[in-house]
Amino acid sequence: MTDAFFAYRDGVLHAESVSLSTLAARFGTPLYVYSKAALTQAYGAYAKACEGRNAAVHYAAKANSNLAVLGVFAKLGAGFDIVSAGELARVIAAGGDPRRVVFSGVGKHADEMRFALEKDVFCFNVESRPELARLNDVAGSMGRRARVSLRVNPDVDAKTHPYISTGLRGNKFGVAYEEALAAYREASQLPHLEVVGIDCHIGSQITEVSPYLDALDKVLDLVERLDAENIKIHHIDVGGGLGITYTDETPPDITAFATQLLDHVARRGHGHRQVLFEPGRSLVGNAGVLLTQVEFLKPGETKNFAIVDAAMNDLARPAMYEAYHGIVPVTQRDSGDSTVYDVVGPVCESGDWLGRDRALNVEAGDLLAIHSAGAYGFTMSSNYNTRPRAAEVMVDGDVAHLVRERETVESLFAGERLLPTNG
Ligand SMILES: *Cc1c(COP(=O)(O)O)cnc(C)c1O
Repeated sequence: MTDAFFAYRDGVLHAESVSLSTLAARFGTPLYVYSKAALTQAYGAYAKACEGRNAAVHYAAKANSNLAVLGVFAKLGAGFDIVSAGELARVIAAGGDPRRVVFSGVGKHADEMRFALEKDVFCFNVESRPELARLNDVAGSMGRRARVSLRVNPDVDAKTHPYISTGLRGNKFGVAYEEALAAYREASQLPHLEVVGIDCHIGSQITEVSPYLDALDKVLDLVERLDAENIKIHHIDVGGGLGITYTDETPPDITAFATQLLDHVARRGHGHRQVLFEPGRSLVGNAGVLLTQVEFLKPGETKNFAIVDAAMNDLARPAMYEAYHGIVPVTQRDSGDSTVYDVVGPVCESGDWLGRDRALNVEAGDLLAIHSAGAYGFTMSSNYNTRPRAAEVMVDGDVAHLVRERETVESLFAGERLLPTNG
């Protein structure tokens, strides 16, 4: 939870033992701040459930792919779930083991497949039949066999936001459940593929266990049919998607959730198969905050605005999914009253808001911490409006490490060229 790692002491918000105002003064704003202790604790909660079981945690790098974050998980023994060759390069640069990587994604390029095969990734999570054919060709051209798992779409409702629900029919992800058996038969016939697993990923920010159990049952039914056809499934990858508390959500406890899934697999007689978890958000979401400074207060007839120096280009989730993030002053004022503000950024879009109708006792120049910004924060950031992306810091006990420099404006157009003038 956020509170343990980002807590008020004497009216000042601290990350572990470092005050966030000190970090803002030292590194500027907007600034992403991550807590190593929070990352470690969340990983430990999954690891505890996996202890003594044939199970492993593969961190979904797209949630937060800063090298320092990947490095912390690599040291803790995590495998990784990636969705591009770029993420694989990051995992390797951070000291992760490519042979513990699963490669997901609906549109893998042949060059990406080649790179992943060279690095001998654990498994390709294949999402369509044409992808099977392409992977078979690429592996064949290299004289290799690619280990594959098919991502099946179990057609269950994860009861989450439509943009982050992925397990329903009519979704671009995975092989339709009815088609899966035929796709597996096809895969098992292709000479340069080796079927090793099955996977599903039904969505994100899921706060109930029941959709997982429904999906798992359908996956296990399929595994049993495949067994009958002598297509052996060594591992079952249950995907990621476990939710976190942004405001009043009550997701299951990580260890209890993971244990429940593992117990269910064992109860149905599949305890001998390896189970993989692919968590992203639940490992990093509440391990990060985005620090921003109030530029101006702009009272209005129907709305008051607190204009801050972070914007939708830094944190896209509110604009993209109408997502809620807690917003709190870094230093609590002991006098004055709260006013209700929309917290908005400087970007030229009405959709550029970070929080709506927030009661805040703030003045221009004050610092705000935007909570639960560790997942899909920096990784979804952009340079819209030619805004350099924020710096990132990781706090480890009482030491703050700059783990990504703030971008410079010059670097943003360094690869661009004016047209040559004729004559
Ligand atoms: C994004 C993704 C994940 C991680 O999802 P979270 O909701 O962040 O846990 C896991 N697996 C796949 C295939 C993904 O695309």
